[in-house]
Amino acid sequence: MKVVKFGGSSVANAEQISKIIEIVTADADRRIVVVSAPGKRCKDDVKVTDLLIALADTVIADLDFEAALMAVVGRYAEIQRDLDLPVAVIETIEADLRGRIESRSANALQFMDAMKAAGEDCNARVIAEAFTNAGSPAIYVNPGEAGMLLSDEFGNAEVLAESYEKLASLQEAKEIVIFPGFFGVTKGGDIATFPRGGSDITGAILAAAVKADVYENFTDVDSVCSMDPRVIDNPPAIDCMTYREMRELSYAGFGVFHDEAIIPAVHAEIPICIKNTNNPSASGTMVVPKREPEHGSVVGISSAPGFSSIYIDKYMMNREIGFGRRLLQILEDEKISFEHTPSGIDNMSIILASANLSAAKEEKVISRIKAELKPDAVTVEHDLSLIMVVGEGMHYTPGMAAKATKAMADAGVNLEMINQGASEISMMFAVKDADREKTLRALGKAFFRI
Ligand code: ASP
Repeated sequence: MKVVKFGGSSVANAEQISKIIEIVTADADRRIVVVSAPGKRCKDDVKVTDLLIALADTVIADLDFEAALMAVVGRYAEIQRDLDLPVAVIETIEADLRGRIESRSANALQFMDAMKAAGEDCNARVIAEAFTNAGSPAIYVNPGEAGMLLSDEFGNAEVLAESYEKLASLQEAKEIVIFPGFFGVTKGGDIATFPRGGSDITGAILAAAVKADVYENFTDVDSVCSMDPRVIDNPPAIDCMTYREMRELSYAGFGVFHDEAIIPAVHAEIPICIKNTNNPSASGTMVVPKREPEHGSVVGISSAPGFSSIYIDKYMMNREIGFGRRLLQILEDEKISFEHTPSGIDNMSIILASANLSAAKEEKVISRIKAELKPDAVTVEHDLSLIMVVGEGMHYTPGMAAKATKAMADAGVNLEMINQGASEISMMFAVKDADREKTLRALGKAFFRI
């Protein structure tokens, strides 16, 4: 059995919905279908979720909301018309939205979630109808009734462990199950949503609950690229990578999906396949628990700008018991998370996202480091980019770092820092933001001959 998830661009209009019907019915194993709200139909379009947020804001502000409501209804009406579905479908959607507004909770966050969830909920109803209309019986399943229980952190909810057992019974459905993504209900019966983009989470939870053979995540790319196609022309596609590789790559800029979104599938060791709704015959990218890596092979190189480093130097640091702990304690006290801590015998650096280090926090942290740790020198550097070279095959392969650093040296890039992850499946390099693209081109040549 396969759990299949279609993102917003794959369900944005009737044409896309017709494609997903074809995709699902082409494979009898595709039994559970998770759908997003209609996304953008073109570059400057607005996602239905954003229209719903605007509608909710208008209601909260006690303003006339008719136009905002009609903007949402209009999106579904276009789908209903183009798919030749009965007008009653739209009447039901409009009544549903008005009902949500009328029974509005005094808690604005709770009301916002009830409205946001309508995007997926209405789309799932329309899509189930469209499947059945096309001759493939499908049923809409309500997440609350199916047992998708979430914590009551509105807008940022997490699944409760007991959901899995309840959701497992979805595999018994005779018809194709159309399940709205992005939301569930709290124990108190209120609608709550995952963070934005959360339909991926719904898909991963269902895949884990029914122990699917594979979780297919349909989006609008043929496969995940080994490097950023905005910087490198035609980078090779990734056919297969492990969860660990994906995590390291998506951490530094790989935007296919949020790595946290797939945690349920990772825990249940369900392989994930990323595929293209607009080109379903392309094999896509598999993300698997384990694979037999080719010696010395790099699966991908990612990069992200916007990092800072705090460099601390103190003679005999290695003999000073508790130095590292006290240093990190300062960050903890100031509620700053860090990314890496490369160190030497007499020095230690902390790499962190610049967004976490406001000028005021920087001043406080540096003065505390000086006062409490008495270092010989502390320097802060901004505008750094992290470059991650990732591959399970790098494990125990000599010469990988040399190959990377030689490529950078030949390109005239000044390397600010190197860190080989303890997992040995990645190498991290820090360079100045201005050198990021040059570095990527040099590494692309060295590792992928592009
Ligand atoms: N519709 C929601 C959003 O735009 C969730 C999703 O598409 O995954 O964030």
